[in-house]
Parts: sequence; structure tokens; C-alpha cells
Amino acid sequence: MSILIKGGLVVTQNWKREVLKGDVLIEGNRIAAVGHAKAKPDEVVDATGCVVMPGLINCHTHVAMSLMRSVADDVPLEKFLDRTFAMDAKRTPEDVGIGATLGCLEMARTGTTTFVDMYYDEDVIAKSAEQVGLRGYLGWTVLDEKFTTQKGKPVNNCENFIRAHKDRELIKPIVGVQGVYVCSDETLMEAKELAQKEKTFCHYHLSETRFEVYEYQKQKGKRPAEHLADIGFLSKGDLAAHCVWLTINEIRELAKAGVGVAHCPTSNMKLASGGVAPLPEMLNENAGVGLGTDGCSSNNSLDMFLEMKFASLLHKAHRWDAAVLPAQKCLDMATVDAAKCIGAEKELGSIEPGKKADIVVLDSSVAPMVPTTPGNVVANLVYASPSHSIRDLIVDGKFVLRGRRIATIDEEKFLPKAQAAAEKLVQATK
Ligand SMILES: [Zn+2]
Repeated sequence: MSILIKGGLVVTQNWKREVLKGDVLIEGNRIAAVGHAKAKPDEVVDATGCVVMPGLINCHTHVAMSLMRSVADDVPLEKFLDRTFAMDAKRTPEDVGIGATLGCLEMARTGTTTFVDMYYDEDVIAKSAEQVGLRGYLGWTVLDEKFTTQKGKPVNNCENFIRAHKDRELIKPIVGVQGVYVCSDETLMEAKELAQKEKTFCHYHLSETRFEVYEYQKQKGKRPAEHLADIGFLSKGDLAAHCVWLTINEIRELAKAGVGVAHCPTSNMKLASGGVAPLPEMLNENAGVGLGTDGCSSNNSLDMFLEMKFASLLHKAHRWDAAVLPAQKCLDMATVDAAKCIGAEKELGSIEPGKKADIVVLDSSVAPMVPTTPGNVVANLVYASPSHSIRDLIVDGKFVLRGRRIATIDEEKFLPKAQAAAEKLVQATK
């Protein structure tokens, strides 16, 4: 199957960050040509008046929590956690599947083609991702047994999940690690060994709140990232989410070890856990940084376009420096830089021949995107309202969204089911 996306404004995100007017040819699940393709494809998609861009990569989420959208807002963190934990405890695997499908639909409609997830029941989430047709880097959460409702030892559950989901096209199983506050050193090292054995990586929460960091320091005499460096846990290719409360030495430890950071500005701001992640310093130290939305109960959206905008605005406001995080860098953190953070820089993140065909087509002839030109398109993608104008989304050479309709599942039938499941869950935990 070949598809020619014809005559769009292509934001390639190649190393030259070229923006060009032209075509993108897809053959099978890969991009075959960019520019002017002379081909007789099976299908032509007219992209006149459209922007063609690489699919966005969400580096940190808990997709199944979409069912818990807006359940605990404008309350202190402790109340937020009480509410979400109470709901989490009541949820069935069916709820997890419905939440994950809902989250995948939202991502497909807002330009995300790949997401990094951390949760339990990742086998259920894998099914949702495959049905909707998104790429999922799915980490079954590992933590100490005494802190979890999981049946059996979490690290064994994670191992079983990885073994059962190897060699799939859309699913890449990874090791989720909840965080140092619920993981002994032994658990941490077991997670690391599992990742190494299975040739995958660990994804974990790190230094999200000041409270968490100082409590840890009181107990252990070290800050979390320092401790992880000391015990030899930090590994090349791992991905740490949040990283709000890091010292410059901790940033250097992460960068030296080759650990990427999933920066989640909206979640951090909304939970008011204080402080702003030292992103300029991370970039200065050449740490890899991608953007993440975090789960829907703390965001309450999985829209990566909003994440790019909030990232830029947060650091501009915080540093009194309008140049501190330009639109181009925000787009990089949601595409090429994110791809590098998950070890997929050769496959994902840009529109270049040979890469996987994960592509978004937006109608830029609508009011919120006019005027769009080669000169302002990147700024429009980051600062204007692009998610409303998304028309098509292709993952692995297949349409997930086509002409604004979900092509893979019956969305109209599904959404009332999600609404009912969410209402039932709210009732059950009142
Ligand atoms: Zn999280």
C-alpha cells in the first residue's frame, strides 16, 4: 500500500529543520520520499492548504486515567492523591481498557502518534493502543510489594508483560518504575536488571515535588537522583519523568549517564507542587529532554500542542526571558528530541525517507491557523490552536484519523460507553 500526501507545507524536522512545499510518499509503513515524488501511489491525499508534520511523541502519561478526567481539581496534592487512589482501587481491568481507548482517541485527535505509559494492566492498555492504532511504549509499574494492590510481585508481572509483548509493531514493552519513594534499592536494581536482560529501558518518576525530595533526603541523607547515581541505577537510555527538584549536580549525573527527561509542565503547574523544572540548565548540560502530559487527572488533557505552548510560556515567565525556550525547541522536544529519549531517533520524530510513516495533516486554512506561511508555521504549531485543525493522522503507514473521522474503531459508539463507565466510577467512590 502506498500513499502520496500531495502539495502540503511539510515541516520535516530533519536535521536542517527544513520546511518545504511538496509531497510525502509513504510505501508500506515507511516514508519513501519527501519533496517531489514521481510515483503512482495506490492513494493520493490532497494536502493543499495543509501542514504536514511528524506525529508528536508524548514522553510521559498514564493513558488509562483518561476516565478520571477532572475528578480532583483545585485541591491540595494530598486531597488529589486521596481522590485518585480511591478511584484507582475501585477500577476494573475493563475500566482500564475503556480509559486507555479514550486516551488514545484524544491523542489521535490532537496529533500524538506515540506515547510512553506507566501503569499496571499494561496488557489491557496494549490492546487499546493497537485497536486505535497508536504506538505505545508501555511500562508495567514496578514497586515494592507492600505498596501495591497488584497481585504477585510487580517485577515479575512486568517481566511477564514484556515477554508477552515482544516483537509487536506498535507496542514496545518497557519497565515502569513508580519512584524511589515506593521502591527499595533491591527493587530498583531488579527493575534495571530486567530492562537490561530484555534490551529495553526503565521509565520512572523522579523528584516531582519538593516534599518528596526533602522527605527522602531526611531518611537517606541523599537526594533521590544522587542516590540513584550512587547505587548505579542510572542507565543509558532510561527516561525520568518530571525532574522538577534537581540540583545542577544531579542534572549532570543524569546527562552523564545518558538518562533522558520527560518534562511535564502542565501537570507540575496544576498540582502546584512548587518550583519549575530547571529546563534551561538541563539543555545546557546536553541532557535529552522530551515533553509529557502526565495522566489526565493531573493535566486534564493529553494534547501535546498545549504542552508545547505551556512549556514555552512557563519558562519565559519564570526566567523573564522571551528567548529562553523558542517554538522550534518546543517542537523538537515533542518530536526529534523525544524520539531520541526513547531510543527511536532512527525510526521516529521526523519526516525523512526511511523513517516510520507517523504523520499528521492539519488544515491550516481555518481561522485559528490563518495566516500560515513557511516562516511562521512552527510558531503557529506551538502558540496558535492547531489541534482543532487536525484532519488526518497516520501511524505506521495506516490511517487512524481520516477526514476528521476515526478510521480504526467506532468512536461514536465508544464515547457514550466511556461516559457511562466514568460516571459509574465517580458514583462508586463518592
Ligand atoms: Zn506520572
